[in-house]
Amino acid sequence: MMGDQNSTKQLTSLGVAGARAGLAAGHFTSVELTKAFLERIERVDGTLHAFLRTTPDEALEAASQADFARVRGDARPLLGIPLAIKDVLMTSGIETTAGSRILEGFVPPYSATAVQKLQSAGAIILGKTNTDEFAMGSTNETSAYGAVISPWQKASQKEGQKESQKEVQKQKADSKAKPEALTPGGSSGGSSAAVAARIALLATGTDTGGSIRQPAAFCGLVGLKPTYGRCSRRGIVAFASSLDQAGPIARTVADAALMLMAMAGHDPADSTSSTQAMPDLLAASKASIKGMRVGIPKEYADQSDDPAINTLWEKGREWLEAAGAVAVPISLPHTHYALPTYYIIAPAEASSNLARYDGVRFGMRGGMQGEKADSGGLDAMYVKTRGEGFGDEVKRRILIGTYVLSSGYYDAYYIKAQRVRRLIAGDFAEAFKKTDVLLTPTTPTAAFPLGQQQDPVTVYRNDVFAVPASLAGLPAISVPAGVNGEGLPLGLQLIAPPMEEARLVAAASALEAGAGFSHLPPDTSLPRHKPAQ
Ligand code: GLN
Repeated sequence: MMGDQNSTKQLTSLGVAGARAGLAAGHFTSVELTKAFLERIERVDGTLHAFLRTTPDEALEAASQADFARVRGDARPLLGIPLAIKDVLMTSGIETTAGSRILEGFVPPYSATAVQKLQSAGAIILGKTNTDEFAMGSTNETSAYGAVISPWQKASQKEGQKESQKEVQKQKADSKAKPEALTPGGSSGGSSAAVAARIALLATGTDTGGSIRQPAAFCGLVGLKPTYGRCSRRGIVAFASSLDQAGPIARTVADAALMLMAMAGHDPADSTSSTQAMPDLLAASKASIKGMRVGIPKEYADQSDDPAINTLWEKGREWLEAAGAVAVPISLPHTHYALPTYYIIAPAEASSNLARYDGVRFGMRGGMQGEKADSGGLDAMYVKTRGEGFGDEVKRRILIGTYVLSSGYYDAYYIKAQRVRRLIAGDFAEAFKKTDVLLTPTTPTAAFPLGQQQDPVTVYRNDVFAVPASLAGLPAISVPAGVNGEGLPLGLQLIAPPMEEARLVAAASALEAGAGFSHLPPDTSLPRHKPAQ
């Protein structure tokens, strides 16, 4: 059935449930499904740049093995399902750069535990997705290999906000210029663009302070950051070790639930990995939320520039109430300190983690052509390697991190931030005495044009709703819930107590059903996807 564009389109538009059913029924093979994705990547990724590298040979080989295994009765949950891996997760034998020049040419000797687990569940790896350098960023523009372009575009002014006739004419005159390229979010922007553009069925993200949830929200997808400790961090290029968590980016809550079950689980090689078993999240995605208490934190109001965000937040509450939940107004009094706290702790940990890139063990060694990199001694080699290998945002974080950890400022900044982090976690613990989950917007704006947010602090503000749950180590999910006046997706976030992914998924499914989000990026022109019941 392969070869023509229509069948490729049909195969790549399937959700995981549809793909699993089709594979199980023998309507198509994993090789055909994988080829369909590889062909579509060829066709559209020249524009998007969601992938840093694809692995077609390995993917087709794995797909063929999956097909054989199926014939023998194998029915693993992700058997033959093609997905993409963010380039901060190490992949054995496949270059892993974390979006950084300094790791160019680094071929890991083993795969991240989360990657191994996905492969053990039968998944096929299509390639590695673009990311902000060392996952530091909210737009994917800090990638040393160039930004990702979102498959989404603003709706034409005519369809969107009311504009005067003159404006519309002017727009038309200008419209030979290409539509404005938007960010897919960051740092997992390659992953969100890939899933949104139907060039991967699923993708891994990592979330230190929002990098799964914000790109999912910007691209009309589901992004789930699990409880800190659910997914092993072994083999994930470290950014801020007390915050980093991997998780799924998917089209539906059920797809994300299935993928998380495959990725998560105890790993003796990560001392922070939880030994608690993950409940059946697929069952949870069908559970009733009757009587569930949904906290609405008042401090999350008035942070958005786009009025559509607060309107949607209201609607989200109504959808959950209609499904039987009870809304409870609550307060998280230290919310306003979360962003500054995060931007002390995350750089502090990053400055320590990134000290290992010294030109000796991993990736590139700095130095000018023809000149010996270590001429001038060891220090000179470090300076050259790190000077040439790191981009501006990473250098900024290393400087901030080193500053807040330095002897004169350690108490004033780092220790203080740790104390405030405790207060923020305490706010959540108090709130969860009266509520079961919390509902907030995911981001203060929809996706914006590439190049628009130049000032780092403006970029950091993207994370205002995401970082509190990160600092407290809580599971949180972004669910696509609507579009703004320009036709761009907006997400709502649910936050649950530690280890309560099942509750999170149940609430998220109810929100998904209420929202009935079925918008697609304009250039995909694929059959509309309906969320699973
Ligand atoms: N945007 C945030 C930052 O730049 C979060 C990044 C992340 O979660 N990896 O730090």
